[in-house]
Amino acid sequence: MLKGKCHSCDRMIQKTVTDTCIYCGASLEAGQRFTAEEKKEILRLKQKLAEDRRANSVVVSNPSTGSTFLAAGDLSGGGDC
Ligand SMILES: [Zn+2]
Repeated sequence: MLKGKCHSCDRMIQKTVTDTCIYCGASLEAGQRFTAEEKKEILRLKQKLAEDRRANSVVVSNPSTGSTFLAAGDLSGGGDC
């Protein structure tokens, strides 16, 4: 699902359901936009993260569990891209 770098600010394109760069707001080029299918997957991952975060807030034994930032390259979910 990786889309490479933004043509405008040269930062990695993050998983987003918009068609713009989250850093500089530039419109992504056609080949860099996420498809409807991918956006559904992204929303699903975000929802899962939110649920995990809720679960973690109940179990306070280890508050320093990993980052919830949905960075490119993380949580690829077994995709073949
Ligand atoms: Zn950018």
